[in-house]
Amino acid sequence: MIIIKSEREIDIMRESGKVTGYILRELKDVIKPGISTMDINVFVENTILKNHMIPTFKGYNGFPAAACVSVNEEVIHGIPRKGRRLSEGDIVSVDVGVTHRGYVSDAARTYAVGRIDEEAGRLIRVTEESFFEGIKFCNAGCRLSDISNAIQRHVEKEGFSAVRDFVGHGIGRAMHEEPQIPNYGQPGRGPRIAKGMVFAIEPMINQGSFDIEVKLDNWTAVTADGKLSAHYENTVVVTDGEPELLTLQ
Ligand code: MG
Repeated sequence: MIIIKSEREIDIMRESGKVTGYILRELKDVIKPGISTMDINVFVENTILKNHMIPTFKGYNGFPAAACVSVNEEVIHGIPRKGRRLSEGDIVSVDVGVTHRGYVSDAARTYAVGRIDEEAGRLIRVTEESFFEGIKFCNAGCRLSDISNAIQRHVEKEGFSAVRDFVGHGIGRAMHEEPQIPNYGQPGRGPRIAKGMVFAIEPMINQGSFDIEVKLDNWTAVTADGKLSAHYENTVVVTDGEPELLTLQ
């Protein structure tokens, strides 16, 4: 069942989303060559705690950190480590969840570390664009897979592929609620979208094939072909008009 949120619930999610969006914006200045993926996690966790909110990911199914930090061929769920330093030319995806008064917001960005090559930059840009193509259909009356199809069409037109094994999701009291929102598929399928639904829409886009593998740590997903992957996500409210992005500052 897809849970419709009340105005009161959306107000709380808006507060949480503000902090998530702020963190992801500030990370642009934090991320530079030489810092470790753990440094990113420390910034994320401290900022959440300073705002008297809860890092949703920490302890979620045993995940050990406040942020997922995934470098280059890592797709999602990278575990921050002190020993994993970023180098000029890397790309790094950071995924953050914040719980406030029992409600969750969830968002991700992919950042350039120093100067990156043109193809890596294009992957980041197309991934972000695909999110915005998707939410053109995040309107009352559209069908859920209209979002999926718009994301897939955009990335494939640009020569990239949409990961199949992980999907976007409904969000609210739980980080993962119904429905699942794949980043590929035929249009016109699935439930009808209605006002008050809240979704975490999150294209995970690969430079090469969409096949992924999960590493021996049982968390980190990597591209099977070792090519780059990018991630872009916001928590989105369905309204009467344009969708409202709770985590974009
Ligand atoms: Mg998510």
